[in-house]
Amino acid sequence: MNSFAMGKFVKSLVNPFNLGFIIRAIGENSTRQIIHNFSNYASHEYQIYMQNLQGMLEPTTAYIELTTYCPRNCIDCYIPKSARKKKQFMSVDILDKAMTKTRALGINIYAILGGETLLPETVPLLRHLVENYPESTFFVCTNGDYLTSRPLALEKIISHDSINMVLSIDGLSPVTHDAIRGKGSFTNIIKSANILHEQRRLYGVISTIRPENDFEVTSSSFVDWMISNGAAYMSYTFTDRMSVQAVNESLDRINALKNKPIFVYTSLYGHVGNNNRSRNYRPLAIDMRGNVFDARRRRDVIGNVNGDLSRLSSDPKWIEGFYEK
Ligand code: SF4
Repeated sequence: MNSFAMGKFVKSLVNPFNLGFIIRAIGENSTRQIIHNFSNYASHEYQIYMQNLQGMLEPTTAYIELTTYCPRNCIDCYIPKSARKKKQFMSVDILDKAMTKTRALGINIYAILGGETLLPETVPLLRHLVENYPESTFFVCTNGDYLTSRPLALEKIISHDSINMVLSIDGLSPVTHDAIRGKGSFTNIIKSANILHEQRRLYGVISTIRPENDFEVTSSSFVDWMISNGAAYMSYTFTDRMSVQAVNESLDRINALKNKPIFVYTSLYGHVGNNNRSRNYRPLAIDMRGNVFDARRRRDVIGNVNGDLSRLSSDPKWIEGFYEK
């Protein structure tokens, strides 16, 4: 890379971070965890930058679904209700294969998904990840129920530098949030935020934008409230029930959050202010049996971790799935 291209890369790397965010992040979070996460973030951005420069499209991240089980019944959950009732979990063998095969593709950033990711049965799997792949970053998405009831059982996991908790919050009050996610959910997720904030953990929030909450979760007051609860980043995804126009209007409101002291990311375009999918992360989605899907929600099987994953990037379904809403 010549110095001009390197200069452009560095500019794009630091652009999403304003001074207010940097001061907050350093003041409120573990320095070791910041360094761990930022170095993986920078490597990931470099992968995307180089792929764009060379006209390539290769996976840069992986979703690993430890289970489809979840006691809750949220509106718009992409896991079918029957699958959410089955107490089945990924085996350590499949988990190791998923990690080994994806790391061979250069992946080092993972979103750990369910079902619900924090359950008594998933704790050994999460412990296995942090003990055996400590150099990676694992974004662990949770509804906060187990974290609230058994914080001590999770202490060693959530305090690990490679773990980055992502709390699902869909409203500014129980009126909106619990109507979507079920009774008691709001209380638990706020308690979870307080636990993470008190322990100086770098954590974030994911909000799924839908007609019931689109104005609320993209409002300045919602994001200010997340900041006061210690969240370092906000990420947004969209349900299929949102019209193209409603998505675009939500994106306009999200772009207006750019100067808040918080990192903001969308599932459509990556960093706030981007309007081009080519700047976005490129995920592979892996379920508890090791199946690799074209996209997390569409779930057409295009491979398995027992086989060769190196050619998946040329699979037309994966390329199309990369553009999944
Ligand atoms: S908590 Fe997550 S996995 Fe469970 S029902 Fe809600 S959206 Fe689905």
